[in-house]
Amino acid sequence: MTDQENHDYQRWLDTVATRSWRLRLGSDLTVGHGAVLPIMNPTDGSVLAELAQASPAEVADAVDAAAVAAPAWRALTPRERGGYVRRYADVLEGHADEFAWLDTVDAGLPLWMMCKDAATGIERMRMFADLALSLSGLTIPASAGNLHLTFPEPFGVVARIIPFNHPFMFAASKLAAPLVAGNTVVLKPSELTPLSALRMAELAEDILPAGVFSVVHGGAEVGDALVRQPLVRRIAFTGSHGVGRKIQRSAAEVGVKHVSLELGGKNAMIVFPDAELDAAIAAAVKGMNFAFAGQSCGSTSRVLVHDSLVAEFTDRYVAAVGAIRQGAPWRPGVQIGPMISQQQRDRALGFVQRASSAGARLLVGGGVPGDAGAGYFMQPTVLNGVTPQDEIATEEVFGPVVSIMAFTDETEAVRVANAVEYGLTASIWTRDLARAHRVSRAVDAGYVWVNDTSTHFPGVPFGGVKLSGIGREESVDELLSYTETKAVNVVMS
Ligand code: NAD
Repeated sequence: MTDQENHDYQRWLDTVATRSWRLRLGSDLTVGHGAVLPIMNPTDGSVLAELAQASPAEVADAVDAAAVAAPAWRALTPRERGGYVRRYADVLEGHADEFAWLDTVDAGLPLWMMCKDAATGIERMRMFADLALSLSGLTIPASAGNLHLTFPEPFGVVARIIPFNHPFMFAASKLAAPLVAGNTVVLKPSELTPLSALRMAELAEDILPAGVFSVVHGGAEVGDALVRQPLVRRIAFTGSHGVGRKIQRSAAEVGVKHVSLELGGKNAMIVFPDAELDAAIAAAVKGMNFAFAGQSCGSTSRVLVHDSLVAEFTDRYVAAVGAIRQGAPWRPGVQIGPMISQQQRDRALGFVQRASSAGARLLVGGGVPGDAGAGYFMQPTVLNGVTPQDEIATEEVFGPVVSIMAFTDETEAVRVANAVEYGLTASIWTRDLARAHRVSRAVDAGYVWVNDTSTHFPGVPFGGVKLSGIGREESVDELLSYTETKAVNVVMS
């Protein structure tokens, strides 16, 4: 590490340790009064800071403030609300470097990638501000001489609960659609990575009206308390399917609430014999999202390659994965940092050990790098000799682990791709347009790439089928999902 890199890193460690981290309850910035949680540094296993969670009363205060603010906020025009979101995006953009550093220190994700994430979060806020004018209703000629109208009405208070893997990007982008649609929002970031969301909340002061946006900090109990608040009518969750199901259960126990779920994936990349091989190999590296240590819902963790290509593909892919540079995430050139926690790292290692015991061949990685120290590092890992029904081929590892499997024909490729409970993304590699269309329609996935992977196109609905969730985001579908239709019939005769 150069002196300058070391200096910058130390400066951010000091900033995180000494800054007073506060919740935003309505317009009040306050330290939490719940149990204190350590925020860990994934790079070396040290404690970055200690933060108090929101108490149950503070969760209720945030929701009450959001409910008080809701009538005035919904009374604004969509364009006016979009204007607020745009101004907030401008302010956040002025602090983009700060958010990138906070996420790098807090989540262990590479600094260059967190700079891109910060830009993406801000871009998506602006996209929803632009979509404000698409909020409109219909006139329906349902009877002669009368008027039949529909209005997209906001729900009131929306709870947004997000995971650890894109801390700022998710906090920023997932705030925008509910706000533009006329709701007020209480956000709960992951208890593992709350820093950028708490900083974002500070910067909302003087930008967003009181109560329109609150941030509470804490784990499962705080999330559950938020879900159960009577005035929360709409819950949008991004995270694991296990927690998603708990949220559905809790919501159903206390009322009838609208719940959308962006959950995990066990995504297949399918390489047909006519694929452009160089591009497909590069995409298989990109698609696994090693920059996130494989901790990405859309990661192509199963690579299905036609028999005729599998030997060459595997050799070249393994060489490319073996060359990935691992290290401290703020160092330039580092392509993979640590995983989020010791628990997640040990869970991923456990998957690999069980797969090896069951007969899979470890082609590269599979362990902890020699210089990991107390950091939560795991080597990029590739296996073959895996059967489609094995645990490693069906469960979401959420770590840097890829299985390569061979197939003989299109029917088998689709059958194997669909032989999992998840259905988030798929990546299809072929130059045959008819095959591309056929297979895209046949795979169980909400978001499909043909001759590409990992790219999210703003405006194109993202979300999963099966265990991967309910609902679509990143598009006008997301905006409208924060409204419910009111029909008004004006009888004039
Ligand atoms: P997680 O499900 O453990 O936690 C997500 C959030 O839920 C956190 O804020 C957590 O505090 C909160 N939570 C936990 N228990 C709760 C409860 N009982 N009630 C309310 N909230 C509760 O997920 P994670 O480990 O942070 O993230 C990884 C998962 O997220 C993976 O499965 C990944 O695929 C998924 N994910 C999906 C998408 C998508 O767009 N589909 C995007 C990113 C991550």
